[in-house]
Amino acid sequence: MTQLGTLYVISAPSGAGKTSLVKALLAQDKQVRVSVSHTTRAMRPGETDGQDYNFISMATFDAMIDKGQFLEYADVFTNKYGTSRLWVEKQLEQGMDVILEIDWQGAQQIRQQMPACTSIFILPPSNTELRKRLTGRGTDSEEVINHRMSEAMSEMSHYGEYQYLLINDDFDATLQELQAVFAAQRLKLAPQQQKHATMLAELLSA
Ligand code: 5GP
Repeated sequence: MTQLGTLYVISAPSGAGKTSLVKALLAQDKQVRVSVSHTTRAMRPGETDGQDYNFISMATFDAMIDKGQFLEYADVFTNKYGTSRLWVEKQLEQGMDVILEIDWQGAQQIRQQMPACTSIFILPPSNTELRKRLTGRGTDSEEVINHRMSEAMSEMSHYGEYQYLLINDDFDATLQELQAVFAAQRLKLAPQQQKHATMLAELLSA
């Protein structure tokens, strides 16, 4: 596969603001696309099939595993999630940058298969703030919130495996930091050489 685009892996516990940050980034950056994962979990109110996730049955998920159709997949708590290999490879070949919003297990698999990927972890600024964000509209029981907190802890314990670490205290400031990571990646030698091949050849010709 001739890979032209860059693959970004972004992980975060729920409540860190990952999805909103990625959405805001995409609105301003036409060079990047986000992969829509496949999942066996039930659709939540407000979600759209094919947009938030491709909602599929366990049998379909297992068949896709057998056919090697996932670039990575994992059991996240009680459901299965996976990334379409074909879609990602096609985007990269077309020169698009691709974001995978996946958990730490998926990130480990991607790092093994595509060591050139860029990985970013987003943390909330404190436990108190995280609890506040996970409490939502205040309709959930203490037990449900404690459960979400423990799931978040488990995800957060893997932040050290990533190349970039963002702390989402202020949304706009964190968005700028995320954009800065993308800008820095694009200014690296290899993508610059690819993008400016003609200009570089001309510049160095006698
Ligand atoms: P949720 O069900 O709340 O949307 O997502 C739960 C977790 O699954 C999040 O940590 C999210 O990053 C992760 N996730 C979503 N899609 C994928 C995927 O395709 N692969 C993996 N490994 N994790 C995913």
